[in-house]
Amino acid sequence: MNLPLLRFSLLLTTALVLAVAVPLSPGQEVESGYGPLPVFEFHSGFWVNLHQFLYHEARLRESTPEAKAAAANASGPTLKQNPVPLSAAEQKTWEQAIAYYRANYAGKDPQINIDLILLKNQLGDFEDCDELLGRKKKACDAGLPGNIGIILEAAAPVYRARWWANQDRANRRWVARVAPLIREQGVGLSQRLADIYQSTWPKAKIRVEVSAYASSAGAFTTLDPLRVTISSTEPRNQAPDSLEVLFHEASHGIAVPVEDAITRECRQRDKPIPRDLWHAVVYYTTSEVLRPVMQEAAPDSLLGDAIVPRQANMSPMPADLREKFTQRGWEEYIRLLNIYWQPYLDGKVNFEDAIAHLVSAV
Ligand SMILES: [Zn+2]
Repeated sequence: MNLPLLRFSLLLTTALVLAVAVPLSPGQEVESGYGPLPVFEFHSGFWVNLHQFLYHEARLRESTPEAKAAAANASGPTLKQNPVPLSAAEQKTWEQAIAYYRANYAGKDPQINIDLILLKNQLGDFEDCDELLGRKKKACDAGLPGNIGIILEAAAPVYRARWWANQDRANRRWVARVAPLIREQGVGLSQRLADIYQSTWPKAKIRVEVSAYASSAGAFTTLDPLRVTISSTEPRNQAPDSLEVLFHEASHGIAVPVEDAITRECRQRDKPIPRDLWHAVVYYTTSEVLRPVMQEAAPDSLLGDAIVPRQANMSPMPADLREKFTQRGWEEYIRLLNIYWQPYLDGKVNFEDAIAHLVSAV
């Protein structure tokens, strides 16, 4: 489905679902340890975490032995394995839930599949409810499709007893680590990025579902409403890189004018639209904007060795970003962004010219 159409159908379907089931309250933000934060609001919701964990486990069962081993090692044993094995009854319930996820969701992408997007949003909205079917409290009927409400309610006691405390703790620890960076830099960075993308940052804070497991990419963003889901246990998401991941993800919703301008320029030139060019622009821009600001403002203890001082690394593109581009087969974009997009970031050309030059060179 193309993006405008997907956005429209998302809006429509979200409106329909919300008309049926309205949550008790928007849920509780995670207490950051640094007071209220600007720009983002972080949630460690029980149902979203259970859902993403089951999705992760279901995908693991579908994958090759090598991928399984890599995924099992990625997040450390304490969050997944139990010191005490599940009882026979617990095992049966848990396996039924995983089987349901394998049959219904494991093959779908949580960033673009509408069933997964709506389910994740709905579970986030009902995070304050201890049920989803409204048997005890009518307001806690989440109105979920198929049998997913029954499956999640059945799996909930097993998850709560065995995994939830550790995963919730990991989520809260992750928020506490990124909080000082958000408090110091959040507003300035959001304004700078919105300016670059010729856009406006949303007035309301962007909801971030912090979850032990997210997607194979470690984080993903869904639109209308703009929400970020990020894995607290993913090595690529740890502070200070967490700040870049958050702003990259949020930019999926903010950088729409870039995507539109690329499309427009391509149509004018009768060229095929390079579908991932806007995403390369977002990767490049987030890295360029965040790096110097963090070096100036973040305490040394937070930066650690993860960032090479800019003076020692004056190359236009840092090594970690270059690697991301190479992995995606975007080597040519490195050259083009350096030539045509960097001057715009430096204030030497305007937005329209930068995009026009970029598109004509692709
Ligand atoms: Zn992205």
